[in-house]
Amino acid sequence: MYDIIIIGGGPSGLMASIAAASNGKRVLLVEKGKKLGKKLIISGGGRCNVTNRLPLEEIVRHIPGNGRFMYSPFSVFNNEDIIQFFENLGVALKEEDHGRMFPVSNRAQDVADAMFGEMDRLGVERKLDSPVKSLLMNDDKVTGIRLHSGEEFESLAVVVAVGGKAVPQTGSTGDGYPWAEKAGHTVTDLYPTEVPLLSNEAFIKSRDLQKQRARHAPDGHAVHPFRLERPCYLALQPVRRQGNEEKWRPSCHRPHQFHAG
Ligand SMILES: Cc1cc2nc3c(=O)[nH]c(=O)nc-3n(C[C@H](O)[C@H](O)[C@H](O)COP(=O)(O)OP(=O)(O)OC[C@H]3O[C@@H](n4cnc5c(N)ncnc54)[C@H](O)[C@@H]3O)c2cc1C
Repeated sequence: MYDIIIIGGGPSGLMASIAAASNGKRVLLVEKGKKLGKKLIISGGGRCNVTNRLPLEEIVRHIPGNGRFMYSPFSVFNNEDIIQFFENLGVALKEEDHGRMFPVSNRAQDVADAMFGEMDRLGVERKLDSPVKSLLMNDDKVTGIRLHSGEEFESLAVVVAVGGKAVPQTGSTGDGYPWAEKAGHTVTDLYPTEVPLLSNEAFIKSRDLQKQRARHAPDGHAVHPFRLERPCYLALQPVRRQGNEEKWRPSCHRPHQFHAG
């Protein structure tokens, strides 16, 4: 019997396992894939944008919709705590533009390795290559997990940290939504938080740019001979996903940037 079983070895599951084991709990982390932290390792173009050092008010202001709900979790663990956490694990961080924090080594793998090392130090047990099929429930109480192999594990609590549906090849295929519903949670409509920008501009449609070499910015975003400003692009995402692009149609001014206008 474990105190806590954590399903999913992405950043949420890794952090949850460290938090629980730091509090003296017996923890089992169960991961579907053969490796932990697959999405973490590709994040930030392989550099991992660990957190942001802007004041909390600024961060909340930039969260689309009502970001004020973040004040409550931030009161327990905030951006400065994340910086402290990784620096204590020996991952030196540096600040770049707009307060973005990256490892000095520019390697997301170092961020992941630091967490794996801390899990080992705290005695977190890992079970890889073990997709979870369902939560074991007794009336309204979750009592453990069942793997696709049929194996069952009991625990006092289960943390579902299986991610959403983005980049499913990293393992996050949306398995947690039906489990959450079965356990009594409400699942809202799903939509992507980052979507492609389409353009009717002649120089895009002609595909002339395809003949030109794209470079990659350090954060992994392609930089073409014209420039797509990342903050501008991200700011447009909530508009696009609400289907309001007619109202906020971005206009592309070669050679500099897209504008919301
Ligand atoms: C290209 C890209 C770049 C990004 N860059 C950044 C960045 O620089 N900074 C940043 O903060 N965020 C970045 N993000 C977002 C960040 O990667 C995600 O927010 C984060 O990975 C979510 O963590 P998670 O633990 O919730 O889920 P995930 O990382 O998706 O992990 C979920 C884990 O659960 C496992 N799992 C799923 N189903 C099961 C099952 N049935 N049984 C067992 N295990 C299961 C999966 O295999 C996976 O390992 C980026 C995302 C992408 C796609």
